Amino acid sequence: MKKWIYSYHEGNGKDKQLLGGKGANLCEITQIGLNVPPGFVITTDACLSYLNDPERQLPDGVMAQVHDQMGMLEHATSKRFGDANDPLLVSVRSGSAMSMPGMMDTILNLGLNAQTLVGLIAHTGNERFGYDSYRRFIQLFGKVALGVPDELFDEQFEAVKKKAGVAVDIALQASDLQEISERFLAVVQHHTGKPFPADPYEQLEIAIKAVFNSWMGKRAVDYRREFNITTEMANGTAVNIVTMVFGNMGTDSATGVGFTRNPGTGENVLYGEYLVNAQGEDVVAGIRTPKPLQDMAEEMPVLFPQLMDLRNRLETHYHEVQDFEFTIEKGVLYCLQTRNGKMNASAMVRTSVEMAREGLITEQEALLRINPQHLEQMLYPRLDPKFKGTAIATGLPASPGAASGQAVFDADRAETLGKQGIKVILIREETKPEDIHGFFAAQGILTSRGGKTSHAAVVARGMGKPCVAGAEGIHVDVQLRKAFAGNAIIKEGDVLTLDGTSGNIYLGAVPTVETGFSTELTTLLEWADKAARLKVMANADTPHDAARALQYGAQGIGLCRTERMFNASERLPIVIDMIVADTTEQRQAALDRLLPIQRADFRDVLKIMSPRPVTVRLLDPPIHEFLPNEQQLLNELEQLHHLRLSMQGMEVLVETVKLLAGSHGEALPATVHELGDTRMVDSVISRKEQILQKVRTLHEVNPMLGHRGVRLGITFPEIYTMQIRAVLEAAAECTKEGVPVFPEIMVPQVCTVEELKYVKRLVETVHQQVEADFGVKVHYEFGSMMEVVRACMRAESLAEEAQFFSFGTNDLTQASFSFSREDAENKFLPMYNDCGILQDNPFEVLDVKGVGKLMGLAVGWGRSARPGIKVGICGEHGGHPASIRFCDEIGLDYVSCSAPRVPIARLAAAHARLLLDQGQSVIGK
Ligand code: ADP
Ligand code: MG
Ligand code: MG
Repeated sequence: MKKWIYSYHEGNGKDKQLLGGKGANLCEITQIGLNVPPGFVITTDACLSYLNDPERQLPDGVMAQVHDQMGMLEHATSKRFGDANDPLLVSVRSGSAMSMPGMMDTILNLGLNAQTLVGLIAHTGNERFGYDSYRRFIQLFGKVALGVPDELFDEQFEAVKKKAGVAVDIALQASDLQEISERFLAVVQHHTGKPFPADPYEQLEIAIKAVFNSWMGKRAVDYRREFNITTEMANGTAVNIVTMVFGNMGTDSATGVGFTRNPGTGENVLYGEYLVNAQGEDVVAGIRTPKPLQDMAEEMPVLFPQLMDLRNRLETHYHEVQDFEFTIEKGVLYCLQTRNGKMNASAMVRTSVEMAREGLITEQEALLRINPQHLEQMLYPRLDPKFKGTAIATGLPASPGAASGQAVFDADRAETLGKQGIKVILIREETKPEDIHGFFAAQGILTSRGGKTSHAAVVARGMGKPCVAGAEGIHVDVQLRKAFAGNAIIKEGDVLTLDGTSGNIYLGAVPTVETGFSTELTTLLEWADKAARLKVMANADTPHDAARALQYGAQGIGLCRTERMFNASERLPIVIDMIVADTTEQRQAALDRLLPIQRADFRDVLKIMSPRPVTVRLLDPPIHEFLPNEQQLLNELEQLHHLRLSMQGMEVLVETVKLLAGSHGEALPATVHELGDTRMVDSVISRKEQILQKVRTLHEVNPMLGHRGVRLGITFPEIYTMQIRAVLEAAAECTKEGVPVFPEIMVPQVCTVEELKYVKRLVETVHQQVEADFGVKVHYEFGSMMEVVRACMRAESLAEEAQFFSFGTNDLTQASFSFSREDAENKFLPMYNDCGILQDNPFEVLDVKGVGKLMGLAVGWGRSARPGIKVGICGEHGGHPASIRFCDEIGLDYVSCSAPRVPIARLAAAHARLLLDQGQSVIGK
């Protein structure tokens, strides 16, 4: 006969799949000698067999084994189930391998009926307690096992309370509770058409089936779907049958829940609540206000030390913060449940560090306890958790954190106000590279269009600023400087709050809290760096970003995008001059003006990062990205032509007035010059026309596959030469000052070694000149982005020229899938994910099987030509924990991600190594 049931003395505490979390832990703590009421657990196997049976019969042998086990409980408690003198009562509790709070049901006080009730009262001498237990049982059993709606019971309960004239349950007399029990029995009879089952074993069987059924109940099914609980994680629920202990037997009885440490802060103090003279569900139900556990020291001075002892034994056994339930029956403490405590990120970090220092866990365990992704919570300001307001609109949570400020509708305005120290939120339909100065000035960014990978989202994430993108419920009117969200109107200057973690938008300034980089987090991340093999670098484009990256613990800069340096508002005009230039000389003149600016940036960045490496990527985007778009130019030109006409009109007016003045002898009015200079308008018009002309010439059908990256560098070598010179001169200046710096020059979009050779020659020429000019040796490295499929295939040959590779997995993913990212994410990807054609969005989660495989091959080929070639990743995947594990496994040397993700990546890099050491691989899964 199959074994369907394990007593708490025999079940294997590790087998949560079979016994459920609650059952397994109850077995475990029974076996280590904690005071658990006698009980047993019916396996999830029994549940699955039952649910598979079309007749919905319990599998053969279950009830027989239940009888045997009940015999043991009777023996252990010296009570009898169904006994009219001193009845044994039990609870019937659900519990699957994964905790699903509030999803499934528990029945207390099972075994009561008219006869056993008399025995219970006689034996305890407590009539009130007897009826209180009875009415609780009828209601719970009625609801859970017989499907009687709770409201029907609640109505009767309230009616009696009203009749008795009492406000709180505890004031009800035994006679009131008796009346309630009778009314409840009538409710059941009326609703089910049958009397309430009196036979205790019949009650037990119905209850077991009801708990099994609740596994497939809508609530539970929805919950599992919502939280992605698969059948591998939890399949079926176990049922626990536990001897009842009573916290409602008087003032020497109580019930409560505890956390072995404070789950809000992680502080090492017992935390929780209890209620005297109450049963378990009263604490959660919120009918009476429970007291903090600390009060027990005074109220129950004998029991409190026992509770502390229970706390200590739980922690020393589990080496983990525990969340436990207890009940005190007439001065005896019982533990009814324990499980690992759920905590917020800062509590997790603090308890990790403290438990490791206490010797309860190792440093490795301290690291592995924390999900790297959860650190995000600690690194950005959050809305005050006490805040309970309604959002006026919701968009995509595009960049985490919360911020408040005055609404502004264009980047210039943001910059002006920002310079005055005013906090602003930049609101746009969507943003473009030319809005970048607005990003610098703003606390947060809100767009009504675009996805999580729109320009606004990507740039905001890079800067660590909150962003809500694609808030389609908001209509942005930039001309009117207003935004409309339902009935709410946001005018320029109105204060609003963004929550980039949830995507919510609120009117007014909502208070935020900053958790910050605690000393515990600093310690934990130091441990992580020790455990990790992968280095973590930052993507940082400006000295300001570099300084922040350093604070977050970056070990260098893996990607410095030089074009971001061009976007500052005083530089963009020079960049435009460079692009619009018709001759090489004109272009060179503009480049000469850019050189000192870039050199100063590089010098600052190199110094800040000294002695860490800084990888500078030469210009990558198509240059027309720096120009305004055609439509905008056409509109402006139209307005200028209108202006020109009006000014001609003014000239006519002035001439006419002059004539009139002559005849009337009046004073002459202002001259045309005072009204405005037509020549200035003319020159603006011709400049705009020139730009328009250039925009049209540069137009590309597929800009992302067009004239960009090294293609640009080869067609306009003077641009790359200027950038190379800026890097090397900056390095020379630092070297002269005795600051050790390690610049690395990286070429984007490479597909053939000939491109690399071409740029390398430029670098070598400039390098010789710079060393001669400055009279110092300048150290640098030269490498290639790996973001083109052909580059990966030719890795062996590229490695002959490149000292390092850096996988640009954003472009490489586009190229491998032949998906244009913007189109994919807006059009078909969501559908692909929904119907399971693709599991994840490959732009967020590295596609290990395809893109990853290509990377692995390229690493191997590259190293065959140049053993030990340094290889990293600088795409957005570089900050994604699962992708980091993969990068570690294929032997990359570093990952590079935006500064705010550096702490997450540091922990993930440690996880990668520790899990791999444990034999857990992510390849081939
Ligand atoms: P949940 O999983 O929803 O917490 P439980 O099975 O833990 O459900 O039980 C609900 C409440 O009933 C808890 O407060 C628990 O402590 C209490 N309880 C369960 N079994 C017993 C028992 N045998 N004696 C006393 N209280 C019990
Ligand atoms: Mg519980
Ligand atoms: Mg790229």
